[in-house]
Amino acid sequence: MKTWILFNEKDELLLAKDAEGYRLPTDEDWKAAKTESHHIVADDWVLRISDKEAPAQMARFTLRQSWRVLSDNEYKRAGKAWEILFWGEETIYCSKCGNPLRWNTDISRICPQCGREIWPQLNIAIIVLIQKGHEALLVKAKTFRRNFFGLVAGFVETGESLEECVAREVKEETTLEINNIRYFASQPWPYPLGLMVGFNADYVSGNISFADGELKEASFFRADNLPEIPEGLSMARMLIDDWVAREKQESDDSIKA
Ligand SMILES: [Zn+2]
Repeated sequence: MKTWILFNEKDELLLAKDAEGYRLPTDEDWKAAKTESHHIVADDWVLRISDKEAPAQMARFTLRQSWRVLSDNEYKRAGKAWEILFWGEETIYCSKCGNPLRWNTDISRICPQCGREIWPQLNIAIIVLIQKGHEALLVKAKTFRRNFFGLVAGFVETGESLEECVAREVKEETTLEINNIRYFASQPWPYPLGLMVGFNADYVSGNISFADGELKEASFFRADNLPEIPEGLSMARMLIDDWVAREKQESDDSIKA
């Protein structure tokens, strides 16, 4: 049985629903499937279709919303499929000779004229939780759509290491000095084509000042007095949850001792 990863023209993911909940559709769910223009990513069949073609009983979710209803495995596959679909649609001509490109493998396109083969380039971003004693720095960026606090984050520039990027972003956005920058985890971030790399770091010195104007609010918070924070999907939330768990462990240990 084939699994379809279908997006409509509004970039919404189409999902089937059964007694157990939402899932990626199979060819059983979409019998009218025309297969000439699909693309295969890993074992999944990926296609953008017009909303009119999609069966009415299928549910529509943004990729971000789909995280709430899909298994981790299906959400990750949908994310990868979206990255490849998006990239393929944005990458039409050879940047060297201008000829139209065609797919060469699942994840690469090639120019039949000059032979140049290209792969998707990820936008790599760092995000960092800065700890100062029993407090952590939470910030509100001007670009946050919802009214919650997150963490300092930014894109890696050419010629710098991930750790150098962390220190630079913190300095630019807050003017704070930090050290002890430690890798935490990474995650694919298909919005639209990214990799998010999380770090912990320690506060050294300085007062918060919104140097480059990217932030509108920032404060150090205790784990037992947090403001509204992002949902569980994000690396920001994973870093905050990890820190809160460590704080709780430390506080439990001190009560026992
Ligand atoms: Zn070419």
